[in-house]
Amino acid sequence: MRAQRPDGFRYSHPKGTFMARRKKIYEGKAKILYEGPEPGTIVQYFKDDATAFNAEKRDVIEGKGVLNNRLSEFFMTGLNSVGVPTHFIRRLNMREQLVRSCEIIPLEIIVRNYAAGSLSKRLGIEEGTQLPRPIVEYCFKDDALGDPLVTEEHIAAFGWATQQDMDDVLSLALRVNDFMSGVMLAVGIRLVDFKIEIGRVYDGDFQRLVIADEISPDSCRLWDIETGQKLDKDVFRRDLGSLTDAYSEVARRLGVLPKNSATVSKPTLIN
Ligand code: UDP
Repeated sequence: MRAQRPDGFRYSHPKGTFMARRKKIYEGKAKILYEGPEPGTIVQYFKDDATAFNAEKRDVIEGKGVLNNRLSEFFMTGLNSVGVPTHFIRRLNMREQLVRSCEIIPLEIIVRNYAAGSLSKRLGIEEGTQLPRPIVEYCFKDDALGDPLVTEEHIAAFGWATQQDMDDVLSLALRVNDFMSGVMLAVGIRLVDFKIEIGRVYDGDFQRLVIADEISPDSCRLWDIETGQKLDKDVFRRDLGSLTDAYSEVARRLGVLPKNSATVSKPTLIN
């Protein structure tokens, strides 16, 4: 057996290739974060695990991680190209992407165009009702508390973000909404609502905010405009059919993946 390299790589494959022994920084419900190859970078690995209702419902959906890696790359690259800064650097492989490490503001930032989910429950508005204008909500990121809805008063009082941060958060959230709504509309999909996370990066003495985490059908509500068919994680939450089929349909319409390629996971014999 070969000696372990001091830089953390270990030779483990019999043919002499070596695999990185990476340091795991964090494992969440749908992703694992590893230390990146350069300082200030992180590798995001997309798992196939699906959870809902604060992880009370869980399953493994083959191919979901591959689709979300691709879809998040597509949205983040598009946002970067219209001048909305994100943490995304580049996709590394089927399940991994390289991102800039940032200090996550502990808020889930939700933007809604149509009533659905918790807003419909809370205010008794029928799902699908168009809202008079986009509504931005903030939830405190804390699984043990069930990510409670908070106001800017809580955010300022507890020092989760400054007023300047919150002005920038609101403007970024609305820019993401405009971009995502347009992209989805072009392929016949209604962006009902979505969740983003925002982080701080430091360039020398300056701090700026970037869109972080992921943007995928796990964190958006996407309805077919013609039929109303759900093409997002509600398919899993509400047992509406195959989640991979729904996400593949979104990817196919956006030209991100050719039909069915995400569901092929094993070599198959061709006669
Ligand atoms: N959302 C999310 N993660 C969460 C909570 C919500 O990605 O922990 C997304 C959800 O997929 C939807 C939007 O945020 O697109 C609004 O969710 P809502 O508040 O209606 O909560 P839910 O009905 O999912 O409990």
